[in-house]
Amino acid sequence: MEQIGEMVSQYQDGQTGQRYFVDLEWYKNNNRSFEVLVQNRMCPDSFNGWNIGASSGTSSTTPRSAAAIDEIERCCSKKPGFIIPNLTVMEILFRTLLTSGNQPLTLGEIEARIREWVGGWDGRVINEDVLKRLIAADDFYGIGPAPDADE
Ligand SMILES: [Zn+2]
Repeated sequence: MEQIGEMVSQYQDGQTGQRYFVDLEWYKNNNRSFEVLVQNRMCPDSFNGWNIGASSGTSSTTPRSAAAIDEIERCCSKKPGFIIPNLTVMEILFRTLLTSGNQPLTLGEIEARIREWVGGWDGRVINEDVLKRLIAADDFYGIGPAPDADE
């Protein structure tokens, strides 16, 4: 818990412009499979096609992680069952990032997207502080601060 507290205070140093994304390096460093996580969120068609593609090998130079994000953005995110309100905030955030090609978002943008996602259904408190804490505590989705694009 102490560690989480430290991480949170680190983010509070006026870094209001900090953006967050799904950090693919995190998966490598933690021996997690990004592909498996994404595949489980694909529509049945993509899911099945994905397995075929994996077994036959792919000649594409696109990394499969990038191809998986592309598949979600292009196809699965537009199918029923993907954007459903009764998911955890972190699950919604993960899907939101996949839907927009894993483009880094600020906390303010994340809050807006999540509010839009859950619509009027949700009684949960969703604000930038809550999001910051959830992201700092995350050890499942690999969501973390994105490098500053201006640097
Ligand atoms: Zn699909």
